[in-house]
Parts: sequence; C-alpha cells; structure tokens
Amino acid sequence: MKIDGEMKTNSKLKVNDNVIVITGSDRGRKGKILKIDRKKGRVIVEGVNKKNKNMRATQENPKGGKISIEFPIAISNVLLFCDKCKKGTRIGVQQKDKTKSRVCRACGKSID
Ligand SMILES: [Zn+2]
Repeated sequence: MKIDGEMKTNSKLKVNDNVIVITGSDRGRKGKILKIDRKKGRVIVEGVNKKNKNMRATQENPKGGKISIEFPIAISNVLLFCDKCKKGTRIGVQQKDKTKSRVCRACGKSID
C-alpha cells in the first residue's frame, strides 16, 4: 500500500495541538484539536466547522433545541500552527537518545 507523504505528515498531529485550517470555508481559522479520528482521517478543531445540531431534550437540557457544535473536517485540511513561524507548518521528527520529539520542520522549534 502506498502512503501519501502528506497524510503521513499530518498523522503526527495530536489532540490539543494548535492547528490552522488551510482550505474550505474556515480557511485561516486557528484552533485546538479536540478529537482525532485516525481511521477516518478526520479531526475536530475548536471553533471550526460549527453547525447547528438539533438536540433532543435531556435532563440537563430539558427543552432540547439547537446547539452549535464542531463537526469533523479532513485531517489534510489542517496544518500545525507554529508560534515562531506564525504560520501553518509541517511536522518533523527529531530523534535524540532514542526519544523522538516532534518539531516544526521550518524552524526546528519543539512542539511537544
Ligand atoms: Zn516554526
């Protein structure tokens, strides 16, 4: 099986990483990864792709009604946001004494 280089790079993303959306209607929006579904190749990013969802009435929310929640987007639509580069960047892996750490590929800043 051939693995696309880009997919492989993006799969280094983790929950709580700050990312920037690079395509679609939320392009340029930044947020924190709330959830990653690696099997489907999708992520949920704080404040991105928000849509209204009809909720059934529950004990906590007796009236039910519409709430706005984040829907998943393709993992390939986001890039890690590097504070130092001030832009979306690719993740590299640096190996030091058997421990691997994630770094910004552009400036080498440690991400973890
Ligand atoms: Zn950087």
